[in-house]
Amino acid sequence: MSIAENILEFKGKLPQNVLLVAVSKTKPNEDLLEAYRAGQRVFGENKIQELIKKYDELPKDISWHFIGHLQTNKVKYLVPFVDLIHAVDSLKLLETINKEAKKINRKISCLLQLYIADEDTKFGLDFEELRTILSSEFYKELQTDQNAGVQIAGLMGMATYTYDNEQINSEFAYLKNCFDKLKSEFFNDDDNFKELSMGMSGDYEIAINQGSTMVRIGSTIFGERNYKKI
Ligand SMILES: *Cc1c(COP(=O)(O)O)cnc(C)c1O
Repeated sequence: MSIAENILEFKGKLPQNVLLVAVSKTKPNEDLLEAYRAGQRVFGENKIQELIKKYDELPKDISWHFIGHLQTNKVKYLVPFVDLIHAVDSLKLLETINKEAKKINRKISCLLQLYIADEDTKFGLDFEELRTILSSEFYKELQTDQNAGVQIAGLMGMATYTYDNEQINSEFAYLKNCFDKLKSEFFNDDDNFKELSMGMSGDYEIAINQGSTMVRIGSTIFGERNYKKI
């Protein structure tokens, strides 16, 4: 199937409340344009330089999401171009995004990354570390700042890379459970905390069953990436 057909198929089968993030990392502009012409407007990248180059060269009504691991010293290059950052994994990173976004009068949606996998190759924080961020002075001040540069919009997580669907299911269930707990403890009167970014090509159906609101789909739309080992 073509990229356009894949996009249309996803749009047809995803529930209304689940956003499709087309993960276009390593793919050429012509592939993104094909998806764009099929109606796709949200694209996910994990390298800053690549995202900026594509931003420059592609239509300006694309919404760019950063899905990779972000270093604090690179934040300033990214903030002019990105609408949502999926994987905030430290208070320092959140503070830096806030500072850099304020400088240019932007407000960037951020998801906090919860570590749910049974692998040490993945980034993220545990539940108590998330509570620590949300209990911090920084976060309290942020809530009263009319011109805040960040908005915490929810959580993100990546399940273990495994064929064991039960394990993936329980990891996503755990993420949803943490989301619900944080929502009631810290965001009771804040409707902006509503996104749960979970699910990729191999596990998005399980993620949707567990309450995902954003799926990050790469290879099922664009085909295998050439660096990827199969
Ligand atoms: C690459 C990537 C994806 C997409 O993976 P596919 O298996 O190709 O769908 C999703 N999320 C993150 C964080 C990624 O780095």
